[in-house]
Amino acid sequence: ASPEQALLSAVRPEAAGAPESGIVEVFNYGRGRQGLIPLWVGEGDMPTPSFIQDAATRSLAAGETFYTYQRGLPELRDAISRYMSRVYGQALPAERFFVTIGGMHALQMAIRVAAGAGDEVLIPSPAWPNFLGAVGIGGAVPVEVPMAVDPVRNRWSLDVERLAAAVTPRTKLIIVNSPANPTGWTATREELEAILALARRHGLWIIADEIYGRFVFDGSERAPSFHDIMAEDDRIIFVQTFSKNWAMTGWRIGWLECHPALGQVIENLMQYSCSGVPAFIQRAAIAALEQGEGFVQHQIERVRRGRDIICSGLAATGKVEFADPAGAFYLFFSIKGEQDTRRAALRLVDEANVGIAPGTAFGVGGERYFRLCFARRAEDIQEAARRLAAAV
Ligand code: PLP
Repeated sequence: ASPEQALLSAVRPEAAGAPESGIVEVFNYGRGRQGLIPLWVGEGDMPTPSFIQDAATRSLAAGETFYTYQRGLPELRDAISRYMSRVYGQALPAERFFVTIGGMHALQMAIRVAAGAGDEVLIPSPAWPNFLGAVGIGGAVPVEVPMAVDPVRNRWSLDVERLAAAVTPRTKLIIVNSPANPTGWTATREELEAILALARRHGLWIIADEIYGRFVFDGSERAPSFHDIMAEDDRIIFVQTFSKNWAMTGWRIGWLECHPALGQVIENLMQYSCSGVPAFIQRAAIAALEQGEGFVQHQIERVRRGRDIICSGLAATGKVEFADPAGAFYLFFSIKGEQDTRRAALRLVDEANVGIAPGTAFGVGGERYFRLCFARRAEDIQEAARRLAAAV
């Protein structure tokens, strides 16, 4: 064996076996093309507002470059507490919140709390690929539970009986992402209640990834949440992020929420994974929460428009099928007669100059689909709809 092969063969299988993102191939194929409309990744096109940037700059200028609190700056935890209490209409004290390096890091720590080597983790699928990857590198076993389109409501839905049937003595955790990337599935309160009842019955943890909770399309202020139904002793850990609401994907900051009884556990996980989030980035996050509500509203409006434009534009072709996304900012659609979505996504780069993700990236049940992100300015979405319509 070559030295490279020998080195690689010594890597633990959990780390070596982490799948490559299914979006990377199209991304590498199309990146840098003149005039390409990139709808393949999960982020909008707006830069971080300047009042957020300024707060970071001021913090740096003031010398906030030292190690900081493991759990997060007290001022930021207070600001998160005020924000969450307002959005969810209940008192959620600062002790519940822990500042993390994005939602991804919160997810990583939450999995560490709940599932170890050999434990099974239920993931309704199609799903954000990082759920599978993050579970796998921790040595636990992801178990995908296929979701389906409810033909009556024309919505993705989760069959909780099917979820229940997937529980084994090794099951420790259910990951619930609602509103969901990539399908737009948004659990009803009844669905959440059924999932929670199942978790209680079997003593399972729930990771509630509600990062898209404010992007909903039925006219309500936010999606139903486990906050609405949970009791003190429920084993629920929430994952949250500044990435989407405040256009801060590159800043890498988010938070984890759980019962304060787990505070020391989370503090330890913080200490030994990253030893705290940079203070100047936390200052930016405080500005986002305290002055950013107008910006969030503006984003939500934009996303609603983007959804309307893309849905009507593609529906008009008669060649594209999809369940209406109830939340988040993705359209998960199929093209009639198109089986090989990996190759089709590459072809659409050439023929439509639009970048979309093949559904193969999103696990079981996603194979026939494509995902595009409609969190962009209306002109781009309009043009993307026109080009895609012409190409299909
Ligand atoms: N959860 C879901 C469902 C996501 O789609 C994303 C990002 O795309 C995240 C969590 C994490 O985002 P970040 O790590 O940028 O905070």
